[in-house]
Amino acid sequence: MDIHEYQAKEILAGFGVPIPRGGLAYSPEQAAYRAREVGGDKWVVKAQVHTGGRGQAGGVKMCTDEHEVLDAANDLFGKRLVTHQTGAAGKVVYRVYVEGAVSIQKEIYLGFVLDRKTERIMVVASADGGMEIEEIAEKRPGSIIRSVVEPAVGVQDFQAREIAFQLGLEPSQIRQAVEVVKGCYMAFRDLDATMVEINPLVVTGDGSLLALDAKMSFDDNAMFRRPDVSELRDKSQEDARETQAADRGLSYVGLEGNIGCIVNGAGLAMATMDMIELAGGSPANFLDIGGGATPERVAKAFRLVMSDKKVEAILVNIFAGINRCDWVAEGIIQALENNPVDVPVIVRLAGTNVEEGRKILSRSGLPVIRAATLEEAAERSVSAWRNNNKHNIKMVASS
Ligand code: ADP
Ligand code: MG
Repeated sequence: MDIHEYQAKEILAGFGVPIPRGGLAYSPEQAAYRAREVGGDKWVVKAQVHTGGRGQAGGVKMCTDEHEVLDAANDLFGKRLVTHQTGAAGKVVYRVYVEGAVSIQKEIYLGFVLDRKTERIMVVASADGGMEIEEIAEKRPGSIIRSVVEPAVGVQDFQAREIAFQLGLEPSQIRQAVEVVKGCYMAFRDLDATMVEINPLVVTGDGSLLALDAKMSFDDNAMFRRPDVSELRDKSQEDARETQAADRGLSYVGLEGNIGCIVNGAGLAMATMDMIELAGGSPANFLDIGGGATPERVAKAFRLVMSDKKVEAILVNIFAGINRCDWVAEGIIQALENNPVDVPVIVRLAGTNVEEGRKILSRSGLPVIRAATLEEAAERSVSAWRNNNKHNIKMVASS
């Protein structure tokens, strides 16, 4: 789960990380009011959307009076901000954050991630902040400092000092840097985060450290025990299809293709997507309906896949271990009888009670295309999609 910059800043400030004065606004008038409240004579108005690269996409605006703040906010509200991270769909701005503008001497990158190789939290830092970490890794790989944290003791002062020295900070800034590194680490550890990033962490004109941007992501599987964090979720920033799926306990990722997939197990779902590609098609989604595929879950999965208007064929691929093919078959029938679909449905069942499942499907008289193997299922899906009327009409229209 991702949260907004202003939320991450508030959390990190609670762990001793210094941030500029700022306030959240839901309307241009409120933004202007916030600027007055914050004080000073220069502000930045920042679009609150779940993506980086807002600066380059016009989502961070410098203002020198209240009218400019009002205009900047006016321009941002309702806008679909497209950054290099959002894809063409972009993210709509419903909140802006108004912050005192800071004079910047130096921009630092400071990140905390889970390093799978060492199975530890790792601090990643660079004196070339401001750019995204991917860009730093490409342009200035030598500038990247990595430091693995020993979980039994956490970030130690000497370790944080070492990072600060390597970043080229002045002796007067070291103590503050240690506070920032330790604060971020504590927030990461205590709140079940999967990522904390301050980019940029700046040295201001007067030589002190300030976090000008902050990003945090959290482990979805731990949110049940972090109610304070989970209430920061903003569904307006998520893919609507994925939100719907998560709310129904399904694991769904929307993709660009036309063949909808309903599969049990993440590994099988990946293999199914690969096989569709191999057969010359393109999957519309990744959907894992999980182990206990009850008729209700199968029906939900059908509705979810069909809510994507791009879908021109559906492949159901179930390998029943704990599951039972006869239940799944009944689920498919229930789903199709209650919500008939106008695209071909291809079903491959394997595993427990497969014969029973196949019989149920053929007795139902529903026009499902059956396949015995994964390969056959992928090939039949692609040819059914190619022969689908919807698809043919589009082909004629576009040729
Ligand atoms: P993003 O990473 O999404 O582009 P940032 O919050 O990092 O957004 O802002 C982009 C750039 O704008 C920063 O690298 C910094 O140079 C500038 N900036 C952001 N906040 C402030 C601020 N309060 N004062 C001055 N400059 C700022
Ligand atoms: Mg940034």
